[in-house]
Amino acid sequence: MGKVKPGILEEMTIDEVRAFDAEVVVWGIGSTEPHGPVLPYGTDYWQCDATARRGVVRANDQGACALMYPTLPIANNANFKAFPFACRIAPRTLMQVILDVIEALEQDGIRKIVLLNGHGGNTDTIRATLREHTHRRNRCEGAFVCMAFYPPPPGIIENPSDHGGEGETSRMMHLQSELVHSEKLGVFPIGEIALDTLKDPGVYFVQPWELHVPLSAGGDVRKSTAAKGEKLINHSADCLAKLLVELSAAEWTDTFPFKPSPDTETDL
Ligand SMILES: [Zn+2]
Repeated sequence: MGKVKPGILEEMTIDEVRAFDAEVVVWGIGSTEPHGPVLPYGTDYWQCDATARRGVVRANDQGACALMYPTLPIANNANFKAFPFACRIAPRTLMQVILDVIEALEQDGIRKIVLLNGHGGNTDTIRATLREHTHRRNRCEGAFVCMAFYPPPPGIIENPSDHGGEGETSRMMHLQSELVHSEKLGVFPIGEIALDTLKDPGVYFVQPWELHVPLSAGGDVRKSTAAKGEKLINHSADCLAKLLVELSAAEWTDTFPFKPSPDTETDL
């Protein structure tokens, strides 16, 4: 097998793939868009790809049979369109891409699929796609598909931000420090909504991010470190590995992923 890590599709030959006989597939759905003056465009893609890789390797070390599908680098970024080259496809297109990949995996005999979400702009679309998949497939006639996204555990990030903040900066310092412009670490402005009622968490609208984060990253990133980034990536990879180990070992039943239905007949 040489240096090939079993379970990383891009690194395997057809003989290795056939012998591997995957039980569960994880597919990272990343993104490529601006992340302020410190971080590269590929930040979401690389974080997602690294988490999927580590998760699969760790799961397979624990006896799972998980296959990593190639991470998707372009997804939803309509809110970023005022910035140059915020790579994007429409939400309806992303839905169709995901549905097509699910169908291809079903044709490859896969019943268990994990979509690893690497970008906040994709969350609603991935959830809607799971609804669409449930609409077009009767239970047990198609693959079981779930979305995974692991927020940072408490106690690591000192100054949270929703884009290009301390968490992402720390992760990139750990993964690709040569692409991080540490000399530009600072406090990046966050725009304020003028209407108070629109700040209510019960109200939703799509924010124009050139107003929300005018530098394309927001918040105080000065406390970012590679050590924090390593903890964050490893936390997500360990959570993913646990999920893959359990899914891989789980027997496919006609009530998957539930226990058999309790007997509803009453003896009167
Ligand atoms: Zn990001």
